[in-house]
Amino acid sequence: MNHFDLRDGELWCEDVSLTALAEAVGAPVYVYSSATLERHYTVLRDALVGAGLKGEHGGPPLIAFAVKANSNVAVLKTLARLGAGADTVSEGEIRRALAAGIPGERIVFSGVGKTAEELAFALKNGVSEINVESEPEMHLASQVAQSLGTRATIAIRVNPDVSAGGHAKISTGKADNKFGVSFSEAERLYAQAANNAGLKPVGVTCHIGSQITDLAPMAEAFAKMRGLVERLRAEGLGVERLDLGGGLGVPYFNQPTPPSPEDYARMIAKTMGGLDVAYSFEPGRMICANAGVLLARVLHIHERPEGRKFAVLDAGMNDLIRPAMYDAYHDIRPVKPRAGEPVVYDVVGPICETGDTFTRDRALPPLAAGDLVAFMSAGAYGAVMSSEYNSRLLVPEVLVKGAHWAVVRPRPTYEDMLAKEAPAPWL
Ligand SMILES: *Cc1c(COP(=O)(O)O)cnc(C)c1O
Repeated sequence: MNHFDLRDGELWCEDVSLTALAEAVGAPVYVYSSATLERHYTVLRDALVGAGLKGEHGGPPLIAFAVKANSNVAVLKTLARLGAGADTVSEGEIRRALAAGIPGERIVFSGVGKTAEELAFALKNGVSEINVESEPEMHLASQVAQSLGTRATIAIRVNPDVSAGGHAKISTGKADNKFGVSFSEAERLYAQAANNAGLKPVGVTCHIGSQITDLAPMAEAFAKMRGLVERLRAEGLGVERLDLGGGLGVPYFNQPTPPSPEDYARMIAKTMGGLDVAYSFEPGRMICANAGVLLARVLHIHERPEGRKFAVLDAGMNDLIRPAMYDAYHDIRPVKPRAGEPVVYDVVGPICETGDTFTRDRALPPLAAGDLVAFMSAGAYGAVMSSEYNSRLLVPEVLVKGAHWAVVRPRPTYEDMLAKEAPAPWL
């Protein structure tokens, strides 16, 4: 469910007209709904709590929002106020989480290639857990912690070797992916860490992929994680936390319907069979995908003699790369749909690449130059992946709350863009 609805034949976000908003800010622009962000967070939290899953000290499980899905500080703040934590993969993301008021104790540091500087930054800022993905990284974390006179609280990321379906570029849980270690490695590393002066192992973690629309591979992975916790405990090792990652899919209109948060939570409770640990989660997409749209304007309709019709937009693959990178499908809705029979379009951007095609042969209401269209479900992995490719200005972001809206990342000026570069002294 989201808060983008038609009112009198025009698309609104909560109580803001998208037509008026695009006139004020210009297109292309990302627009996020606070109500949708809040709703998705609370629905997930209530489902987890309702299924009897607990976090630290018997409270609700930690929901560490995966900052890489949408790192805008205003979005993070909206979630932080509800109690969300942050799952981060770089010093930059940790800084964003801290800037949004998320305390270190609710920040998790993941990722396969953390540098010594980043680990030191995380430790100095009291990050609650470093999810270690390999043996060399574990040793680096220990060295850095010892040099700071502290211990790094770590969880070992396991690669459960299950196939979660979805696109090859977003599957992370197979043995041939770069993520995490095997179960036997995890046991060996955990025991090592328990005897290492720079480490405090507190748990294990997994994340098997993204846009998962079937609970079966998750249940398979989680059952293996439960087995691991039990084996570690049988060896006399303390396991306090279990981080089950993110990855639950969202409906992208033509895709299989993803399981509800309630079904997901019930599956976990059933799979874990009362295992007594503090649970945490790292959802990204399911919180923010449907909370955002990318608004773009039709520049013109270009009709080829053989009949193919191109709707050329002012947004390109530099603003939304998912269709080019993952063959992703986004529902495209005119903000003010015209009457008439649907017309089949190729919807493309202005970039000098054939890959700058959002969709081919899509039947849409008739479009004309100047019309606004909304790419639905663009709140996750949208603005975060945008660039200035073709020297196009970085796309702005707007946050809506009720009848209010605020520009939370302004469109830079061309002067801003050029000021970031410096000529070499000999030029
Ligand atoms: C990307 C990622 C997530 C979030 O994935 P979603 O599919 O957006 O929920 C969570 N944890 C880790 C370690 C990730 O890399």
